[in-house]
Amino acid sequence: MGESPILFLELDKYIMEQIKDFSSFLNERVIQIPDKQGKIIVLLGPPGAGKGTLAKKLVKRNGFQHISTGDMIRNSDDKELKDLIAKGKLVPDKIMINLLKAKLGSVDFEKGIILDGFPRTLDQARKLDSILGKMGVGLSSAVYLNINSDTAKERLAKRAEEEDREDDKDEEIIKQRFKEFKEKTVPIIDFYKSSRKLKDIKSGVPHEEVYQRVVNSLGLVSKKDEEE
Ligand code: ADP
Repeated sequence: MGESPILFLELDKYIMEQIKDFSSFLNERVIQIPDKQGKIIVLLGPPGAGKGTLAKKLVKRNGFQHISTGDMIRNSDDKELKDLIAKGKLVPDKIMINLLKAKLGSVDFEKGIILDGFPRTLDQARKLDSILGKMGVGLSSAVYLNINSDTAKERLAKRAEEEDREDDKDEEIIKQRFKEFKEKTVPIIDFYKSSRKLKDIKSGVPHEEVYQRVVNSLGLVSKKDEEE
């Protein structure tokens, strides 16, 4: 032995450099990771499945923050986007993804997040994983509110009266929204099934029952709210 001390010295130096690189890599990562991450939940389902109602209960009773991409567009000043909603068409992925990215920059991950209406396409689902990954957080579950289309359409008719939403009033627009769901959103169900994140929840039953099923399946504490 003792034939190649230089080689050992070089090796030492090399290892030290690698350790230094790795620790600065870790430091950068640690800074990005929030102290505590609440659950990040995606809600999927056709129009009228009950995503908004469920989201409101999870906010009120379990402290989640609610992000509704539909509300974001309805409350925006962008006429082109509002026109798309009015026609029952999806907003293009690139625009929607940028809007969501900006929104996620200002949320408190500690509280947990309900993403209501996003993702709606496979591209959005894949981008969501990468956006969250870069922020050092991850998606917990995707809740699919499984409802038959006749029941969902009956609910939309009721909502059209209660909430005065233009896109709930016209039969052709409703048809278009269901078509978008079937063609673009349904493939996401398999995407989350294969990563074992999908919770398939029967909807079309009273909202309280859906809420109880969801909290059980997500392992949350079930809470009742007498005032509702
Ligand atoms: P619903 O699920 O009952 O149709 P939403 O408020 O979730 O209601 O969505 C209303 C409309 O907003 C959609 O029909 C679509 O035009 C637009 N929208 C909402 N979220 C997205 C999204 N993630 N990608 C594209 N368009 C969206």
